[in-house]
Amino acid sequence: MSEQGACAGAVLTIDLGAIADNYRLLRQRSPQAVCGAAVKADAYGLGADRVATALANAGCRHFFVAHLDEGIQLRRHLPAHAEIYVLHGQSPGAEMECVYHRLTPVLNSTNQIADWRALARRLDRALPAIVQVDSGMSRLGLSGAEVDALLDDPEGLHGVELRYLMSHLACAEAQDHPMNEAQLSAFEAVRARFPACKASLANSSGIFLGPRYHFDLLRPGAALYGIAPVAGAANPMKPVVRLQARVIQTRLIGAGDAVGYGATYRAASTRRLATLSVGYADGWLRAFSNRGIVMAGAASVPILGRVSMDTCTIDVTDADPATVQPGALVDLISPARPIDAVAADAGTIAYEILTSLGRRYHRRYLDAEPPRTTPVERQAAKLPRNVTVSNSTYN
Ligand SMILES: *Cc1c(COP(=O)(O)O)cnc(C)c1O
Repeated sequence: MSEQGACAGAVLTIDLGAIADNYRLLRQRSPQAVCGAAVKADAYGLGADRVATALANAGCRHFFVAHLDEGIQLRRHLPAHAEIYVLHGQSPGAEMECVYHRLTPVLNSTNQIADWRALARRLDRALPAIVQVDSGMSRLGLSGAEVDALLDDPEGLHGVELRYLMSHLACAEAQDHPMNEAQLSAFEAVRARFPACKASLANSSGIFLGPRYHFDLLRPGAALYGIAPVAGAANPMKPVVRLQARVIQTRLIGAGDAVGYGATYRAASTRRLATLSVGYADGWLRAFSNRGIVMAGAASVPILGRVSMDTCTIDVTDADPATVQPGALVDLISPARPIDAVAADAGTIAYEILTSLGRRYHRRYLDAEPPRTTPVERQAAKLPRNVTVSNSTYN
């Protein structure tokens, strides 16, 4: 039998235990708020089914997806008491799908509110929802004038069971950006008009702006997956992702030889190259051309020439030859090459690196520690040690 993943050009390892630890770290930062999780876009490319299950076992019970379809898929993997919120709300005509699959829409516009209210009337029962207000990002949510109109309308939120009033921060990773305070006070002003309603404002970075931004429900995504929540500060989150690419072959080139499409790199002296089995079709972005860095063992080595669809080429002249034999794996993302530094090489953000991760990788999941149970609970459940039980503590 060959090594696991030997048939794949690259291996992606996702540490579910680190995701659970990151969840606990964020929850500890705000004892008074409930901590949810953004698992949209297939949990930022890491696999929503596995990630959401690990988070549910760590005690999370509020999950955010973007599309209704994502919510329908996710519902199959989560315990019945888990709440799934659909950030984009329902599109016209799809309201009933939310009810069938027990998904709670985030209502972002007067139209979405009217459609939800109409369904509540038709079914003759209150239907749960989050209402989003725009506090300065001009993306989703009611404007100030629309909030006025909603509150003036006697029908307004009739039949809508308002779970949370929500808004989203535009600049939270930049802690001293004036937008943060401006959005907070805009949100506070709207919230004062819905006095009985709970509120939700903070994404990952918002949590690190301090307790005034926490309200009742936190919505972290990025930080759970190891992305640094505060720009320019040490990253308190555990790394979650390791990406390794396989060496296909090595070769020597001489002064004047070109590398890759467009011949954008030309060697000034003799170099040893290794060609890796990873390219832009895997989400290893073309923007890494002549800019990216890879770890061959302990050596940090540059990408030379353009990244192709299925391959890229690195300069291993200074690397230990044993680390770049054909079949060896080099690290593209690892503790020595943190995801935020990798993103900076490509002139992008770590969110885009994760959500671009390709389908061709061999995926390995490192399992989360099962939730801690007392010996009595273990006995009661007649479970051997280290078996996951479903009645872990939820907040
Ligand atoms: C994606 C998203 C989040 C999570 O944001 P992170 O920066 O990944 O923590 C929270 N709220 C909304 C509305 C989002 O769209």
